[in-house]
Amino acid sequence: MTVPNLRINELNHHLPSLDGDFVLYWMTSFRRPNWNFALDRAVELANELGKPILVFEPLRAGYEWNCDRFHQFVINGMVDNAAAFKAARVEYYPYVEQKPGDGSGLIESLAKRSCAVVTDDFPCFFIPQLLRVMSRKIHVRFEAIDSNGLLPMRAADKIHSRAHFFRGFLQKVLTSHVSEMPNAAPLSKQTIPRAKINLQQIQKQWPTFETRDSASVCETLSINHGVKPIENAGGVNRAAEILDEFIQRKLTLYPEDRNYPEKKATSGFSPYLHFGHLSAHEVFCKLMKSDDWSIEKIAEKPTKKVEGWWGVSDYIEPFLDQLTTWRELGFNMAWQDKNFDQFESLPPWAQKTLAEQENDVRSPCYTLEQFDLAETHDPLWNAAQNQLVSEGCIHNYLRMLWGKKILHWSASPREALRIMIELNNKYALDGRDPNSYSGIFWTLGRYDRAWGPVRPIFGKIRYMASENTARKFPVKNFVKQYGSRQKGLFA
Ligand SMILES: Cc1cc2nc3c(=O)[nH]c(=O)nc-3n(C[C@H](O)[C@H](O)[C@H](O)COP(=O)(O)OP(=O)(O)OC[C@H]3O[C@@H](n4cnc5c(N)ncnc54)[C@H](O)[C@@H]3O)c2cc1C
Repeated sequence: MTVPNLRINELNHHLPSLDGDFVLYWMTSFRRPNWNFALDRAVELANELGKPILVFEPLRAGYEWNCDRFHQFVINGMVDNAAAFKAARVEYYPYVEQKPGDGSGLIESLAKRSCAVVTDDFPCFFIPQLLRVMSRKIHVRFEAIDSNGLLPMRAADKIHSRAHFFRGFLQKVLTSHVSEMPNAAPLSKQTIPRAKINLQQIQKQWPTFETRDSASVCETLSINHGVKPIENAGGVNRAAEILDEFIQRKLTLYPEDRNYPEKKATSGFSPYLHFGHLSAHEVFCKLMKSDDWSIEKIAEKPTKKVEGWWGVSDYIEPFLDQLTTWRELGFNMAWQDKNFDQFESLPPWAQKTLAEQENDVRSPCYTLEQFDLAETHDPLWNAAQNQLVSEGCIHNYLRMLWGKKILHWSASPREALRIMIELNNKYALDGRDPNSYSGIFWTLGRYDRAWGPVRPIFGKIRYMASENTARKFPVKNFVKQYGSRQKGLFA
């Protein structure tokens, strides 16, 4: 099938040029050779123009929160991608910047040799700004393709303020979109003969990253070495393993066990979804296949509820709701509101109630550094922070508590927001994502309603306490495991 128009974001008005040597796929966010509408689009254009594809996957050094942890994850992905593109006999050019600025001019040089440039339409972090700048510098056809989720971002009628409303909207429109899936193996759709592309001149100045050196490369780069890599993480191969493991072993237990920090029952997909090593479309298709589902099973009318609309087994529905409603709610906001990461983007009722409590005494009150070092009085909070620092993730349920207590123990709601963004994006593998901001802003009232009674500091914002969490779910072993910082694990 062809890539749906709603997923194609034209970044300039140039037509594809026949003079170029190749169609360039500039891979920035959907870092995978499969289930990827952007790669589908590059193949489509290459077939139309009768040109080969060049897949260019760069890794910058100069982005905010750069560190060994995120670099190693992406580089592990490059190793997998190199093998996959080699097997498909497609030219693949991975580039790792040694220090900020080294890569300047590279994309323009590649674009000059191209018939058309296709890239990823990711609505967060530095990508939207980068695309705005590059759209003025690229003088051939330039398109950004949306392969983020089951709903094309541009299919939304507005910014949805609550998950409940968004769920109802999805149930009205999603049926047609789930029959438009990206190709599981886009490169098999190429109709033109494979051709060697000569990039010698360009690669003299910007050498190809040799993926065989991947293990030690981070040490040599001008990036932050204080946040350590996570072992055996990153890449499409690892993503395929965890997807398989989730469907085989964890899926049936997900509704019962997902909120228990000690059971590790959630999927662990979010870092892979964030870096594009895993596609939400692939997760969806494989999940549904495991349940022998077909599109006719969808309910005739929206139920507006988590259950009963898809027509799948009960245990799959709560997971699908996270993957579609909750995950895509963040994308729905990020592409439409440039201020999605600003305090002022909170709903008016939340800003009002927080302002009314602004002068409440905060005791204890911690600084960013104290939170970072897990030096609060609360062993459960400290354990969650230690998990974030050592493993690059926090258990789903504890992440809500983690954020709520930062609001509770910071000098002001704005300071709490600053601290949450900094810690989440510094350590979390899935940080710097639309869902980083939905999660963090949720703790401050976004996507939620007002709750009573009015409490100090929180006002009408939903309150959470460690004591209640410990009553609901056993956390003793979790606190024991992550209670103190073990040598070697931490920077
Ligand atoms: C303070 C705070 C910060 C957060 N920061 C991030 C972040 O940086 N990146 C991020 O992806 N998520 C974030 N979340 C949302 C959620 O915690 C993670 O998506 C989830 O923990 C990822 O674990 P998993 O893949 O095992 O989830 P699973 O439970 O297995 O869910 C499967 C997928 O559904 C999506 N999902 C699940 N829960 C949520 C949710 N509440 N909101 C949005 N999508 C969801 C994710 O893509 C997830 O990978 C944050 C939540 C809070 C409260």
